[in-house]
Amino acid sequence: MSLKNYELWFVTGSQHLYGPKTLEQVAANSQEIAQHLNTSAEIPVNVVFKPTVKTADEISAMCSEANNAENCIGIITWMHTFSPSKMWINGLSNLQKPFLHLHTQFGTEIPWDEIDMNYMNLNQAAHGCREYGFICSRLRLARKVVAGHWKDASVISQVGEWSRVASGVAEMKQLKVARFGDNMRNVAVTEGDKVEAQIQFGLTVDAWGVGDLVKAMDEVSEQDIDALISEYEAEYDVVAELKSGGERHDSLRYSARIEKGLKNFLDAGGYKAFTTNFENLYGMKQLPGFAVQRLMKQGYGFGGEGDWKTAALVRTFKVMAEGLPGGTSFMEDYTYHMEDGGVKVLGAHMLEVCESIAAQKPRVEIHRLGIGGKDDPVRSLFTAPEGIGFNVAWMDMGNRFRLVCNELQVEKMENAMPKLPVAAAYWSPKPDFATSAAAWIYAGGAHHSAFTMALSKAQIEDFAEMLNLELLMIDDKTEIGEFKKEIRLNEVFYK
Ligand code: MN
Repeated sequence: MSLKNYELWFVTGSQHLYGPKTLEQVAANSQEIAQHLNTSAEIPVNVVFKPTVKTADEISAMCSEANNAENCIGIITWMHTFSPSKMWINGLSNLQKPFLHLHTQFGTEIPWDEIDMNYMNLNQAAHGCREYGFICSRLRLARKVVAGHWKDASVISQVGEWSRVASGVAEMKQLKVARFGDNMRNVAVTEGDKVEAQIQFGLTVDAWGVGDLVKAMDEVSEQDIDALISEYEAEYDVVAELKSGGERHDSLRYSARIEKGLKNFLDAGGYKAFTTNFENLYGMKQLPGFAVQRLMKQGYGFGGEGDWKTAALVRTFKVMAEGLPGGTSFMEDYTYHMEDGGVKVLGAHMLEVCESIAAQKPRVEIHRLGIGGKDDPVRSLFTAPEGIGFNVAWMDMGNRFRLVCNELQVEKMENAMPKLPVAAAYWSPKPDFATSAAAWIYAGGAHHSAFTMALSKAQIEDFAEMLNLELLMIDDKTEIGEFKKEIRLNEVFYK
């Protein structure tokens, strides 16, 4: 999943008006900036310098080249000089990759004693970028504008964050989600128009019978299971009854069989995300719990009860967060702790919470599950660390898809839950419980979400904008009256 396989093209706009000497300097300066971005640790993708574009034909050719370059996740554009923007109309109209407008200039200070018309022929970003910005707005193009000197830490970090989002969008365009069984019967929010999702976002969702998965599980060899058991015993605190020689060791072996069978099935089909449905597990002895937790940690997206939208979102966020501290998991608002000091939310699922959000070494245990009518499932147990997190839910509103996001203060869980052995997170939603929950419910927000402690609010906003997805943000600034107004205005905007 290394993002270094992806390219972000650095494209500088100019024109022939200033003569070849100026253009040589433009190219040299651009190369230096591209090189600097490429070697910045905060930008995880390859920044690739491209020759200066000076005519409408060169711009159009560059844009179609970017469209066709599989590894190109987007372009950075910068106007070193003026670049009359009618030249950009055709190219930008056809560009299918996200783009970032870097509004910078090569030098920092005005050289007061030296500045002359030669300097001014070369350093025109202050007005050149505004001419370019007009045509982007006139074309109603979604893009990210980052302003500041190219060596500024905040500029680098914004470009880096954005490049992660563009990588996620590239992932979603070719993402394949496997659904074992269909949607949980009668549940509404996990449904949605899969054809429309493919048209808008590129992802495909394939249904498979659980029997296909069981067949893949049957093909797993005892040696493969042995290898996984050694991995478990090295990586986790495995409870004695599940360990080799323990009286319930067979249950752990069965869980390993699920994990390996699932992984083989997904990899053979090119699937990076999947869903299960506990109503439909014919031929399986155990619900997939630990196996799902392990696969999520390895980067696969997951959604419970047929929730393909959340599965796709979890996978996409994992790509965006690749190599960053903090994890990303499938999540559900589980239950509340209501006390005077403020209501807190226990987030979990009956089994499938990703180990990437674990604050401690997970314990592996086996317990009864009063749902699904199967053998006791193995699961790993842990809690999330303190920090800022986000819950993002994805709904089909009939005429459009909507994201709702809530910023969370994730807190330490002070109490153990000896009789509810599930992996969990615990948070105070922003701005406060009453506002957050009412806003979420007015927005029609799902009970499932992609929970992340690795991404920033700006990245979630950029993600929605890049995909032309409606986003309702619930954070410190949220006020219910304004929030309802935003929903009403969006009804018009997305009509
Ligand atoms: Mn659920």
